[in-house]
Amino acid sequence: MAVSKSRRHFLKKGALAAAAVGSLAAACQPAVGPQKANFAISSTKKYRWLLVTTWPPKFPVLGEGLELMAKWIETASAGRMKIKVMGAGELIPPLECFDAVSQGAAQMASGVSYYWSGKLPAAQFFAAIPFGMNAQQMNAWIVNGGGLKLWEELYAPYDLLPMPGGNTGVQMGGWFRKEINSMADLRGLKMRMPGLGGKVLAKAGGTVVLVPGNELYTNLERGVIDATEWIGPYHDYKMGFYNVAKYYYYPGWHEPGPMLEMIVNKSKFEALPLDLQEIIRTAVYRLSYWTLGEFEAKNNFYLRKMIREEGVQLRQYPSDVLKKLKIYADEVVAEVTAQDPMSKKVYDSFLAFRKDIKSWAEVTETVFYRDLL
Ligand code: CA
Repeated sequence: MAVSKSRRHFLKKGALAAAAVGSLAAACQPAVGPQKANFAISSTKKYRWLLVTTWPPKFPVLGEGLELMAKWIETASAGRMKIKVMGAGELIPPLECFDAVSQGAAQMASGVSYYWSGKLPAAQFFAAIPFGMNAQQMNAWIVNGGGLKLWEELYAPYDLLPMPGGNTGVQMGGWFRKEINSMADLRGLKMRMPGLGGKVLAKAGGTVVLVPGNELYTNLERGVIDATEWIGPYHDYKMGFYNVAKYYYYPGWHEPGPMLEMIVNKSKFEALPLDLQEIIRTAVYRLSYWTLGEFEAKNNFYLRKMIREEGVQLRQYPSDVLKKLKIYADEVVAEVTAQDPMSKKVYDSFLAFRKDIKSWAEVTETVFYRDLL
């Protein structure tokens, strides 16, 4: 019996749909390949890895999160993978983490990519740019908007695999011994502010002083510096800055959503059984989620506590000061990208994404923050 026209049409459509499902299913398969056998035969092998950090030992949130992540990985792998976390200075100085993992002396490191900007200027775009994107937008760009591919490309020659390691959320503008009412108040101001933010401050006539974290309090107390930025209310409270500077400025225009990083030795990672690779990736992403949540919850609590109990004077940077600093920030970034093609490539991606997501934010987040929360 001849197949009717409508039946033929149905069969044809069905075949196409099946093919489409097949290709979708294929696209969703993990990239197995030669490592499939590795997965089966190595399932009982034990791995003992070292994770070095740029944070002091047991550093609130950042160090604590790494200890949690090590436990998650150990549990998820049924003890096959154990990671020992070493704080800054316990094994190597903090700024040697990149080289240590690159050379395989440690398998992983936690830090912020702008620490490596002396060696790789493009690295800082994966952390924070003054007046750049917030945590949610950075996450969208890096994980889903092409940022991570560029980050991997930048680190591949060093045998490193970068992963997004969390975010501090918008930082605070810093602690000042006197009020900032105009650009004139920034001129001659001695302030601790690292990275691109420091370059912006220098353009505004400020004097950027680089002070190690453990000397910040005494330098501010003795007037060696007039102001300092650090992180946010939780960490700033622990540093006790409110005792020596009363004015606490917002927002942290220099670090609107700093992305933290996890770097893994690429060869060692790829030599792992596939399930352990996935366990590590999954644990790092859980760490990211946990870290931003912990910062938001703790910062909220400690800001209110400092205002209520310590007489901290909360101040917003005047809007004309912020506008001027933003102009300087664009100039600073233009100077970096003019000297380094990879920086330009990464920043072009960053900028295009920010431009688009800004219009999305205007009809979503912005409305809620401005009118509805
Ligand atoms: Ca900071």
